[in-house]
Amino acid sequence: MSKVGIFGGTFDPIHHGHLITAQSVREIRNLDRIIFIPSFISPHKADVNSASPEHRMNMLKLAVEEIEFFEVSDYEIKKEGISYTIDTLKEFKKKYDELQFIIGYDNIFKFHTWKNPDEIMKITKILVLKRKSSLPPPHEDKYVKSALFVETRGIEISATDIREKVKQGMPIHYLVPEKVKEYIYSFNLYK
Ligand code: ATP
Repeated sequence: MSKVGIFGGTFDPIHHGHLITAQSVREIRNLDRIIFIPSFISPHKADVNSASPEHRMNMLKLAVEEIEFFEVSDYEIKKEGISYTIDTLKEFKKKYDELQFIIGYDNIFKFHTWKNPDEIMKITKILVLKRKSSLPPPHEDKYVKSALFVETRGIEISATDIREKVKQGMPIHYLVPEKVKEYIYSFNLYK
């Protein structure tokens, strides 16, 4: 039976925070692999000026190309429009026996605002990346109660911070894989 982790996000750009925590979740939850699915337009970030879907996809591919248990899917990017998790999960459910959907700590507390949250919960187990430093839950609804909090390593890196650093001409060594750094510079992203 294949046990697959689905990790969605804007990945603008993919960074070591994503990669290290994903690796940690895979080990803790004994997943066969993790599929990174960059959104075309995130329902939560539709107002942010991001790198093109093609650039985000290319950076993800560079970041995971040598890791056998990491994969990238262009499903949401090919589909275009706003990327709703429920639609993506229904599609992947056709192919895999067991899906576990990986989300960041803050996202579980906004989960009730997502499209069809009950249906998402039926299709998949929600894994929440809980850093050791995470604040106590601000509130507990049925979604928070049925999610599984996975204590991963806390890697305090954010894509917003990386974009800001590039804009200001500051170095981004060690925050992203070397090939992603080169890609950002060669296409002059986030300037
Ligand atoms: P931004 O700064 O642009 O909001 P981000 O770094 O949070 O971006 P996303 O692409 O939104 O990156 O992240 C995808 C998922 O990974 C989200 O669920 C987010 O909470 C989670 N995530 C992002 N950075 C980290 C990190 N350093 N450790 C653990 N989870 C993370």
